[in-house]
Amino acid sequence: MPKSVMSKTVMSIVVLALLTAGGYWLLQRTTPAECKVCRREIHAAARAVIEVDGKQEAVCCVRCAMTLDEQEQKPVRLVEVTDYIRRKALAPEDAFYVEGSRIVLCQSHEPHLDETKHAQSRVFDRCEPSVYAFARREEAEAFAAQNGGAVLRFAELMKELSQQAPAPAANAPAGARTQRKP
Ligand SMILES: [Zn+2]
Repeated sequence: MPKSVMSKTVMSIVVLALLTAGGYWLLQRTTPAECKVCRREIHAAARAVIEVDGKQEAVCCVRCAMTLDEQEQKPVRLVEVTDYIRRKALAPEDAFYVEGSRIVLCQSHEPHLDETKHAQSRVFDRCEPSVYAFARREEAEAFAAQNGGAVLRFAELMKELSQQAPAPAANAPAGARTQRKP
């Protein structure tokens, strides 16, 4: 191989390596955070922070944290929620919540297909019925008027946890009523 071709080859390899490294770096930076509990992508409008065993973790939504509380023996404490409108952190006690609206920001897992290749209706999803937080009562009420659901304060929402968890099948909303946003 002549020397000039050789150095050109080396140069191309170096450039390719740099591009690959740069692409990887960009991918790392743009990959959205995922929920520590259900591994779904965390939507910026639905993020919550919980504390379990003295450790704080970001989760995809308030409902996912509540479901975790029902499933775990150890208590799950909500530390922070996100204002749906401004996407800013809120203290859980200060927020207004809309529970059970048609909006579900958490991505569903692929529908299960049975042997006849028909999608089975979903009976349980840990992020439903959805719960989103708002800084102002008027905004929560406007959201509920448009998308359904009930406006609750933090204490009312937490009451659900102290009660006996209902059977998932009876509790789950019909999949057809669920409207998803990207
Ligand atoms: Zn989750």
